[in-house]
Order: sequence, then structure tokens, then C-alpha cells
Amino acid sequence: MPEPKTTHDAAKLQAGYAKWHRATEFGGMLVTTGIGIWLIVRIAQAQPTSGWWMPLEALIGLLFADFMSGFVHWAFDTWGRVDTPIFGSLAIRVFRHHHADEKAITHHDFVETNGHNFGLSLLLVGIGILVVNPKTATLIDVFIGMCLLFGAVFTCMTSQIHKWAHMDRPPRVVQLLQRARLVLSPDHHSDHHAAPYNRNYCITIGWMNGPLRAARFFETLERIITAVTGAIPREDDIGKEAALEVAAAEAAAPLVPDPEPETEEVLARVRRD
Ligand SMILES: [Zn+2]
Ligand SMILES: [Zn+2]
Repeated sequence: MPEPKTTHDAAKLQAGYAKWHRATEFGGMLVTTGIGIWLIVRIAQAQPTSGWWMPLEALIGLLFADFMSGFVHWAFDTWGRVDTPIFGSLAIRVFRHHHADEKAITHHDFVETNGHNFGLSLLLVGIGILVVNPKTATLIDVFIGMCLLFGAVFTCMTSQIHKWAHMDRPPRVVQLLQRARLVLSPDHHSDHHAAPYNRNYCITIGWMNGPLRAARFFETLERIITAVTGAIPREDDIGKEAALEVAAAEAAAPLVPDPEPETEEVLARVRRD
């Protein structure tokens, strides 16, 4: 029978959080905050600024951040190894560790919890700076800049929201937001932590999980990547035998939304073992 759970040792993965990594994260947080403030100033100086669009810009930024959280989470959960150059120790280690010990995140301080998400936001605010030139910006430029700014803010908040979903007693106001499904709820996220860890990748608010699942978005990407490269999805995380069984069940599933009896049956067996 395949090994159903992650094949990694949590203590060893935690020990891989190097001092230089932490220093880089801290520096990245300062740079992202600085460029984010610069983007706010550029937007404020632009002539076509209008507050009426803000709710729509915030919603687009939120959904984009939720999608990004799912895409990045899926990519690092599914492909590569801890010893992959650069991304192995910087990112893949963090995702393997989270499957090996899902409560460890609740002991991480602010920098360890949020550093890598600030790094992702740097990309968004950087693009925002290029899009919004205060002297020549059109209403559309400002709209895109605001969506990127909100996307960056929600991306920065994503790991903190994810951490709250794993805490036994998050702050009271967070519990209310979780119940209202205005941030990722523990119930919704717990589906991801059942082996083979291939559901509900989005961890900002979780609203994008339903549509992405219905579209079989990640399953389709996995099949394309496997066809092109021969790589087996989540082989490093759950072991080759279990990964092959899950991939075969997903490939055999019809292209329709949930429920998928055949896939569910195999996944249930993998979880049971
Ligand atoms: Zn995961
Ligand atoms: Zn989690």
C-alpha cells in the first residue's frame, strides 16, 4: 500500500529555516512596504483618481490575491523537491513542512509567517509603479494600479489569515470573520490537510476554490505538465506510489464538477491508509 501522508520529517524541515533566509525576508518586507507607499502616493497624485471604484477594485484585488495564493500553493505543493536549487530551501521546504506539521505555523513569528508573501506582493506593487505615472495616468491606469495595490495588500495578509485558520483560539474578531467566510475558515481549509493535500489550495478567503475545482483547473495543469515533462505531481510530498495512484484517479475522472465518485473513492482509500 502506498504511504498516504507526507514523507518528510517536520523537525528537519523547520531546521532548514536559515538566518540568511530570515534576513532576506525582513529586508524584502521593508522594500515591499516602501514601494507600496510609493504606489499610494503616485495614485493620490494622479488626476483621474476616484473613490467610487474602490469597492470593485478591492473585490478584484481580493479575488486575484485568493487565486494567486492557490496557484503558488499548488505549484510548491505539487512540484519540485526540498533540494531543488533556490526554490527548494526558500519555498518548497515551507510547504512540505506545513503538511508534516500543520500546527507549526501557529508558532511562527511575524517575519517567518509573512515574509514570503511580502515578496510576492513586491511583484504586484512593482507593476503598479510602472502602470501609474501621475502625470499621464488615465482612469484605467489608476483602476489597474488600485487593483494591484489591493491585490498586494491581501497577498501580504494571506499567510496571517492562513495562520489564524490553524489556531485553536484566534482573536475574537477573526473568529467572526471566519464564520462569515470573509477570511479563510478553518473548516474550509481542513479539506486541504487531508492527504493527498490536493483540494482547496486558495487560502486568502477561499472563494476561488469552488470555481477552480469546477473547472478542474489544477488537475488540467497537472496533466499538461506531466505530459510535457514526465514529472509526477506531488511525488516528493506523498511518495511515488501514492502520487501515481492519485494522478491515475484524477486522470480517469470525467470532466465534470464534483462529485467525482471514482476520484473520491481512491482519495478516501489513500486517506484511510
Ligand atoms: Zn498545502
Ligand atoms: Zn494550512
